[in-house]
Amino acid sequence: MTLQTTKNKSAQHNSPEVLLGKSLAELTEWVQQQGQPAYRGKQLYQWLYQQGARSLVDISVFPKQWRDSLAGYPIGRSEIHYCQVASDSTRKYLLRLSDGLIIETVGIPTAKRLTVCVSSQVGCPMDCDFCATGKGGFIRNLKAYEIVDQVMTVQEDFGQRVSNVVFMGMGEPMANIAEVVAAVKCLNQDVGIGARSLTISTVGIPGTIRQLAQHKLQIVLAVSLHASNQALRQQLIPSAKKYTLDRLLAECRDYVQITGRRVTFEYILLAGVNDLPENARELAQRLKGFQTHVNLIPYNPISEVDYQRPNQYRIQEFTKVLEESKIAVSVRYSRGLEADAACGQLRASKIQTATESLAQ
Ligand code: SAH
Repeated sequence: MTLQTTKNKSAQHNSPEVLLGKSLAELTEWVQQQGQPAYRGKQLYQWLYQQGARSLVDISVFPKQWRDSLAGYPIGRSEIHYCQVASDSTRKYLLRLSDGLIIETVGIPTAKRLTVCVSSQVGCPMDCDFCATGKGGFIRNLKAYEIVDQVMTVQEDFGQRVSNVVFMGMGEPMANIAEVVAAVKCLNQDVGIGARSLTISTVGIPGTIRQLAQHKLQIVLAVSLHASNQALRQQLIPSAKKYTLDRLLAECRDYVQITGRRVTFEYILLAGVNDLPENARELAQRLKGFQTHVNLIPYNPISEVDYQRPNQYRIQEFTKVLEESKIAVSVRYSRGLEADAACGQLRASKIQTATESLAQ
């Protein structure tokens, strides 16, 4: 379903002049093009990334006449359309982009951290069987600034610095690799989040893991494996038919070799489907000799399919088999479950409301 209300959709999105996402050097060049001295670039940079300016009119250090002439200039900030707070303090946001489309972003606070789960696309083309986002189809890629904006929005709403970012919201980051890499660089260099605290999660798009490796970023790469063999994987993930488990793992090995960094594998646990001890043994066999860490994700029920989350016994058994094979393993439970469990569901459940309010 498309949440599009404005007719000139592409006008703002193709605009090269949106300011958020630009580096200090680019902003300096921009102010100079506007006939201003170079030092205004540094001021703009600070107001964009430290003060969270939403309009150039807000930047009080700029001369009034220039500010007024820039009223309405696109900075690249979204608006919070809806925010739902769970009892564990997780906040799920629906953000409205400049063309009226809605994306989902989550802020997850813990004692020492504030993690943001960002979307990289509006919708998702991958259509994994267990994922709510894929059920709604794919609309478009996000621009780098629209990814950076999500982090800034959560930071401002919590009034706290964001420590970690995970690309585990809507979309497949590697299907939008150029904008995702640009966003990662901006989050690291301009927003100031450590590269090792940025995680890209991918189900695998041929060639892109090697491509990412060439950037030599010190980020964490998480690969959504979800199955211990090809037959099972292609049953859960349609794109795996063409991009086999063997090819995916070969690319991951190259990534480790090129970057010197290990790869994390994510494995969703679906009761009776991929959570049996033999699946764990097969997985351990597959990952032998791999410098890795496995994240087990017990399934979050979504309404469109009837998979089940395994019980504690099954989860522990699976964990034990991997540990016995000397594979580092952790179980990751999703936070903010009552705020519409799995990612993509909040958006799906609010799509009606959003459409109504946007139509007004
Ligand atoms: N497209 C990327 C990132 C988005 S999803 C990827 O596939 O990695 C982030 C993680 O959440 C992925 O591992 C995905 O498989 C998982 N996920 C999706 N739906 C889920 C559900 N219903 N329950 C638990 N995990 C889910």
